[in-house]
Amino acid sequence: MEAKIIDGKLLAEDEKEQAAWQSEWLKARNVYPCLAVVLVGDNPASEVYVRGKIRDCTMCGIGSMNIRLPAETTQEELLAKVKELAANKAVHGILVQLPLPAHIDTKAIIDAIPPEKDVDGFSPVNIGRMQIGEPCFVPCTPAACIRMIEATGTEIAGKHAVVLGRSNIVGKPVAMLLVQKDATVTICHSKTRNLKEICASADILVVAVGRAGFVTGDMIKPGAVVIDVGINRGADGKLRGDVDFAAASQKASWITPVPGGVGLMTRATLLRNTLEAARRTVKE
Ligand code: NDP
Repeated sequence: MEAKIIDGKLLAEDEKEQAAWQSEWLKARNVYPCLAVVLVGDNPASEVYVRGKIRDCTMCGIGSMNIRLPAETTQEELLAKVKELAANKAVHGILVQLPLPAHIDTKAIIDAIPPEKDVDGFSPVNIGRMQIGEPCFVPCTPAACIRMIEATGTEIAGKHAVVLGRSNIVGKPVAMLLVQKDATVTICHSKTRNLKEICASADILVVAVGRAGFVTGDMIKPGAVVIDVGINRGADGKLRGDVDFAAASQKASWITPVPGGVGLMTRATLLRNTLEAARRTVKE
């Protein structure tokens, strides 16, 4: 049977509707939610992402600051900008678009974002809090993956979840969130042996490898829920996921498309985190 599609567009629209309501709620309490997005240089993909984030904010009544800095910006200049935003009470969330130019120490910049404004959830404090299950800003893509699994009505507890990829921004946090939801989790990476067999035993398979069509139909357990995080641009300019969608659709029960899947929900989750940052400043 053909898999059902986990529709990122539909879920993101729903999320945005809720964000618009929340934004009104905050404004009625004199809190005007605002996200500052900092883009250094002119990476075309980053420009597209930033434009999308700003547009989402506008649609949901969230204010935004679109800060563009030239590629030659020094580490000190960028740090000074982040500190200025950190001190600005009108700014609730700070997002520094990655990747940064090679001469800038990304870690030092992320570390300079105060945890309460780190809506991307990349700072060590937020990552640590997530590990121990304390309230925090969960990184947007991992949070989106969980929401998409839950949207299928699938019970995560007790399931075997396999996460393909162990990056700090996707693989590791997704795995941690799945453990917190009581899944039994296996993390696979480039040194994993018997990768195909492990994937084929997954009730829930989250793929974040960065290789188009890496997961083939024989790596999918019949009835599995498949979340494809990968975004790969082919020579034809088209976006493809890490999963061979056509083949996987014949085996999975649910699957996310690319485009139209995790990417859209990731953006919507950023709105949620920004609004949560603003909500924390409401004087009860
Ligand atoms: P990274 O390159 O940081 O990590 C890739 C992971 O895949 C690594 O852990 C690597 O293993 C593993 N890997 C690579 N090749 C193989 C292989 N042959 N066999 C097994 N494992 C392998 O990527 P990211 O996590 O940042 O991103 C992954 C994908 O998700 C990309 O396509 C990216 O564009 C996309 N993405 C999408 C987002 C969205 O909003 N939808 C957000 C963020 C990313 P090892 O650690 O051993 O090197």
